[in-house]
Amino acid sequence: MADDCIFCKIANGQIPVPLVYQDERVAAFRDINPQAPTHILLVPRAHVTGVPALTDADGPLLAALLTTAAALARQEGIAESGYRLVINAGPDAGQTVDHLHVHLLGGRALGWPPG
Ligand code: AMP
Repeated sequence: MADDCIFCKIANGQIPVPLVYQDERVAAFRDINPQAPTHILLVPRAHVTGVPALTDADGPLLAALLTTAAALARQEGIAESGYRLVINAGPDAGQTVDHLHVHLLGGRALGWPPG
């Protein structure tokens, strides 16, 4: 856990944000500035700065993030209508928090290409 990381603090309960899911590896909570009717962030509970920091050893973690996203999409009732998973990496992509996070977006038609 990184002392100055807001997503570490949320994922580990130091900031009291309601979690929509948690297990030993993954935590999920609603985005504070939702861009769609469903906008959930899934994060590893351990600090990982982002995609560029991933290694082969993170395979099980990535599988857990994606399967949890699929389960949450079913729970949110958007599995059939469709949803998008987004991981921003670096400034041009708009990454603002340096802790790996998957955006789960759905509940409306999402434009393509993204802005
Ligand atoms: P990104 O731009 O991909 O780094 O996404 C960071 C996301 O974190 C943005 O969509 C923010 O709205 C969201 N965010 C930042 N702080 C919080 C917070 N305290 N609780 C929930 N979501 C947050």
